[in-house]
Amino acid sequence: MAFKRGNIENQIHEVPKSVKWCKKCVVSNQRPRIIFDEEGICSGCRNTKYKNNEVDWKLREKELVQLLDQHRRSDGQWDVIVPSSGGKDSGYVAHQLRYKYGMNPLTVTWSPLEYTDIGFQNFQACIDAGFTNLLCTPNGRFQRKLARLCFEELGDAFHVFVLGQVSYPFQIAKRLGIKLVLFGENGEAEYAGDPEYVDKPYKPSKEWVKQHFKGITFRELLDYGLKNKDYLTKDDFTESDLIFYEPPSVKQLNTVGILGIHFYSYYHKWSPQGNYYYCTEHTGFKPNPERTEGTYSKYSSLDDKMDGFHYYLRYIKFGLGRCLEDAAHEVRDGHITREEGVALMRRYEGEFPQKYFKDFLEYLDITETHFWEVIDSWRAPHLWRKVDGNWELKCPIE
Ligand SMILES: [Zn+2]
Repeated sequence: MAFKRGNIENQIHEVPKSVKWCKKCVVSNQRPRIIFDEEGICSGCRNTKYKNNEVDWKLREKELVQLLDQHRRSDGQWDVIVPSSGGKDSGYVAHQLRYKYGMNPLTVTWSPLEYTDIGFQNFQACIDAGFTNLLCTPNGRFQRKLARLCFEELGDAFHVFVLGQVSYPFQIAKRLGIKLVLFGENGEAEYAGDPEYVDKPYKPSKEWVKQHFKGITFRELLDYGLKNKDYLTKDDFTESDLIFYEPPSVKQLNTVGILGIHFYSYYHKWSPQGNYYYCTEHTGFKPNPERTEGTYSKYSSLDDKMDGFHYYLRYIKFGLGRCLEDAAHEVRDGHITREEGVALMRRYEGEFPQKYFKDFLEYLDITETHFWEVIDSWRAPHLWRKVDGNWELKCPIE
């Protein structure tokens, strides 16, 4: 029987039905929560201009020092948690906090679904740069089934990683009584330029379900899976296996004195490329010897064999792939021109993540036929058409 999606009421992204591309960078109006102005320029570009011309970064750094001083401990205990993959972004944040600002960070890592060799090397190298790290690897039998559920019903197997990536650091913070949890960049501000987030140093937990969890809590998702998927049963987990997939309640966070997700990108101008150079020098970070599939870069999101499918599904759902993620930021940062960005997009955007395809199927325990049925169930009809038996985007970038 062909795959038919259920009815989880999730991620109702009100994207416009006619595609427009930003005149300055390479993003389209299909990105959830992005705003295009009357000149056809996206809020991401507007935000870059704002950061370059109007934000007083000296003042922002003073705010950072004030924040750190509030949390700094003199008894030798950890005073800040940095959720870290060991990649270039979290490595940069942890290293700066420790060596520039004299904090005592604890790095915590929610394991990728399956580490790549280069990802694990970078993870170890970052620890060797002088950090104690907690690595949490969740119940594999359960997580694989959850990943399949998320792939089928949310169009993103990688969502199980996001749940833990956001929740686990706060569960640890709560248990150790550490009040400050400092993430790298605020994606809403950095990539979508959502004006609501541009000038906010942190995001309170009540906004996480909408912003990070696709509009559905972990418990709702799990209940849905138990009711509707015969491959997921109560034998697959115990209550303790669930703890790190959910953040502490607002009340619990308040009791510890945790405000929410703090972002380093509020205090320092965020440059993925700059972070890369910083970490090659300071945390032993090494790029991939080869280009990452779907884009031209060698240094972004290298840790997980599965995350190529996160970007591929986004390409299917919104027409926004992995190349765009790198190119849009680099165009805005002035590292490449828009023309160069468009050329890179034509060449790499939407490239299928073939290298780990077999691993992905095995991880989810699905057939290739089922994979494509699920993929096609997520194709947005206003974005895709079939030409001579092949799917193509109706409005690719010009
Ligand atoms: Zn733009």
